[in-house]
Amino acid sequence: MMKRFFQRAIFVVAAVVLTSAQADNVLVIRGVTLIDGTGRGSVPDATVVIEGNKIRDAGQHVQAPAGARTIDGTGKFLIPGMIDAHIHLRGGRGGASTAEQERDGVRALHSYLYAGVTSVFDAGNRPEYIMGLRAKERSGAIVSPRIFATGGTVASPNGHGGPYNVEAWPGDRRLLDDHLATKPDLAKIGQDEHGWGTRPQINQLPDDLLEKIIRYYHATGTRVIIHVSNEHNALEAIYAGADTLAHPIIQAPMSEQYVKMMSVKHVPTVSTLTIGENYSRLADHPEFLDQPLYRDTLEADERQKLKTEESAKQKDNRWAAWMKVMTPVAQDNMKRLNDTGKDIVAAGTDQSSGPALHRELELLVGSGISPADTIVIATRNAARALGKLDELGTIEAGKLADVVLLKGDPTRDINNARLVDLVIKNGQIIDRAKLDLPVNRRTATQ
Ligand SMILES: [Zn+2]
Repeated sequence: MMKRFFQRAIFVVAAVVLTSAQADNVLVIRGVTLIDGTGRGSVPDATVVIEGNKIRDAGQHVQAPAGARTIDGTGKFLIPGMIDAHIHLRGGRGGASTAEQERDGVRALHSYLYAGVTSVFDAGNRPEYIMGLRAKERSGAIVSPRIFATGGTVASPNGHGGPYNVEAWPGDRRLLDDHLATKPDLAKIGQDEHGWGTRPQINQLPDDLLEKIIRYYHATGTRVIIHVSNEHNALEAIYAGADTLAHPIIQAPMSEQYVKMMSVKHVPTVSTLTIGENYSRLADHPEFLDQPLYRDTLEADERQKLKTEESAKQKDNRWAAWMKVMTPVAQDNMKRLNDTGKDIVAAGTDQSSGPALHRELELLVGSGISPADTIVIATRNAARALGKLDELGTIEAGKLADVVLLKGDPTRDINNARLVDLVIKNGQIIDRAKLDLPVNRRTATQ
């Protein structure tokens, strides 16, 4: 009897010790309105338990372990960390020193974290540059959103991208092996013959070669994302095996057949509205650069240059005028795709800053997509587009703990997604006051 009592007592003590040891590793957000990224309705007064780098539980009536560090989320809104599924990180090109390039890149990465973006996919950059930063992100050597990257891109010789310009098969497979040796998270293929707007014609891959390339990547377990801009190429890319499209169809309204095809295939399509819209926005409304998020994250001299020199330049840019005409077409195409399948449209900017993603969300809402759907587009759907939905994109048990606490309800007004209160990446609170951004240098000197 006594022995059993001791055994039980030891068991209880062990359980208590275990619980408090776990509590050190646990972060709880309570009283928050949960917008979990799945598209389900907001859950008021929710509790989210993060253990280590994973979400352990989320919802109403969730038990939090005693003694855990707790954040009061009352009056606030919790969304999954946002994902920009198409960027080209700045710093990778140009003649600056390696240290200067990397400083530029890290500042851009900090602007994403500051704005609540916890993952980015770089869809084409100088391989050594972006893979170097990716390694530093993964080892914890830099504070950064998760970096997924393709490095160099694949295209026809004199085509849309490089340096892996494939023509002969199987001879040029060695180029793809060179690419694979850099361990791309996804392979990006540029399939565009241009010859529209103000752009002269270039080459693109023959469809049978495109399929061979995709098969080659798939046989190594590598997902393939394809740049297209018209419906013909989008269809050919999909039937050649594309996993994700890097852009919407922007050259014309989608046909009804294309929409019907997408209702069957649900091929993730990255929105990238802001890259095209940004030219005319700079020309017509450079004052957007005075909005708080831009002031906080973009250097003052750069904002000044954009508002003056660059704005003047864009007023004479025929491509800017063309994109001004085509952006509403691309917006409407995004709206129609989202009406067809709520998992298709994924947020991406084709740019290189946190504020750009918020502009993208604004443009998606401008297309008629609801703010609630737009949050799904920036979280779950972007994770799906990158093949990362098992780990990222929603606030559900077992997912990596990337979450953003907001001071306003983004399902009521998408610009409330800018009101970032707290960013958690991989279970760790990001110290936003330590990011290398103008907002922090201002408070340090004034
Ligand atoms: Zn791009």
